[in-house]
Amino acid sequence: MSAIAFEYPSEISALRDGIVSFIRAEVITRHEKNAELFADPRKIYDDKGAYVPRVLELIREVRMASAKAGYYAMSAPENIGGGGLGYLAYFVAWEQIFRMCGTHYWLGHFMISHWAKGPSPVLEKVTPKMRELALPKLLSGEHSMCFAMSEPGAGSDAAMIKTRAEKDGDGWRLSGSKIWITNSPYAQYAAVFAVTNPEQAAKRKGGISAFLVPTNSPGFIVERLINMWGHVGTDEAILQFDNVRIEPHQLIGELDKGFKIGMLGVGLGRIYNSGRAVGLGRWALEQAVEYVKVRESFGKKIAEYQGVMFPLAESAMQLHAAHLMALNVCQLLDSGQQATKELSMTKAYAVEIGKNAVDRAMQTHGAMGFTNEMHLTEAYIYLRKVNVADGTNEILRHLISKQMLAGDMDL
Ligand SMILES: Cc1cc2nc3c(=O)[nH]c(=O)nc-3n(C[C@H](O)[C@H](O)[C@H](O)COP(=O)(O)OP(=O)(O)OC[C@H]3O[C@@H](n4cnc5c(N)ncnc54)[C@H](O)[C@@H]3O)c2cc1C
Repeated sequence: MSAIAFEYPSEISALRDGIVSFIRAEVITRHEKNAELFADPRKIYDDKGAYVPRVLELIREVRMASAKAGYYAMSAPENIGGGGLGYLAYFVAWEQIFRMCGTHYWLGHFMISHWAKGPSPVLEKVTPKMRELALPKLLSGEHSMCFAMSEPGAGSDAAMIKTRAEKDGDGWRLSGSKIWITNSPYAQYAAVFAVTNPEQAAKRKGGISAFLVPTNSPGFIVERLINMWGHVGTDEAILQFDNVRIEPHQLIGELDKGFKIGMLGVGLGRIYNSGRAVGLGRWALEQAVEYVKVRESFGKKIAEYQGVMFPLAESAMQLHAAHLMALNVCQLLDSGQQATKELSMTKAYAVEIGKNAVDRAMQTHGAMGFTNEMHLTEAYIYLRKVNVADGTNEILRHLISKQMLAGDMDL
């Protein structure tokens, strides 16, 4: 019996089954073998909040094993050496990974190339030289990258970025700063967005270009790691560009037309986060349903109390709706439609209800729900943060409103 009256294409069902086997063989075993290391966040990060070398090595091992098995770069375009799978595959893969790994087997979160951290459609238009220089190791999972758009003065309104790439002979010189850049402390490359034509940029009519920049370029500085929400370590950092030389072959796509490439990435991020939210929500709900069957209070299993079960039924309704919304929008996107309204609705809804599902699962577990060993608090933090990342809940509602006011009332 399936809750979804929708048959996945055979390659997507095969992908999902393959992911399950991969996680068992390559992810869970690594967690088990390194249980002592993973049990204590103080061993995972150094005193500055960066992953210790052994953890980075384990992450790289998972990426590379997945690339070898044909999963890692599945969503990168075929013309740059990826698998060329579309949005539906991307959603299904991430939903499966998060449902199975939760936040416990977190090495699994590295098995598919995340759009900002590895090969994805964002790199479709890199130059032939960059394809030769950077792509082999990005595709094999040996190297990773980051996506540097946000700045201290430009978040939701990303077109306000001030980082400049000024002409310097046949290339450019990059100066400015970026903030919240995930994976930047560990990446070998950064997709950096910079103003190349200030007049166009001021009129919001282009003027922003995208560059693929090696993070070991002179003047490329990881200024500070940003510890978030009480964590002892982090993925996010502040970057400074001090006159970084950019060669012509580092331009991605056309000059002054990089903003669209950025938005393509953010669109993928909205699908990724919808998959993450539905997956983590289901993972949390499944744990809660198991717990209520065994936990007793006042002489009964707590499953017998409506006060316990109705919130879980609420989570089931909402997760089912978000799941269907995501399958629907992926098909719209895969058929070439822009689906701005549907993508905004899906991401905003999925991350809100995913977070609420985790919250209810914590409540169901009583004090156990707040222990590190349950990993539910970690899932809550993840999803609470993505109520801001890749389009805040308010910005997504703003996009939905704009579409409606423009006459799109198709629901
Ligand atoms: C965990 C995490 C990882 C991130 N990783 C990256 C990364 O890898 N690369 C990168 O470039 N960026 C990254 N970001 C940054 C992210 O893209 C921004 O945080 C996001 O765009 C919001 O910008 P802001 O934080 O500056 O908030 P602001 O834009 O300052 O917004 C502040 C508040 O005002 C509201 N608001 C703003 N404008 C409107 C409006 N028009 N209508 C209604 N409400 C509005 C917002 O919804 C929000 O509640 C990350 C963020 C997080 C939390």
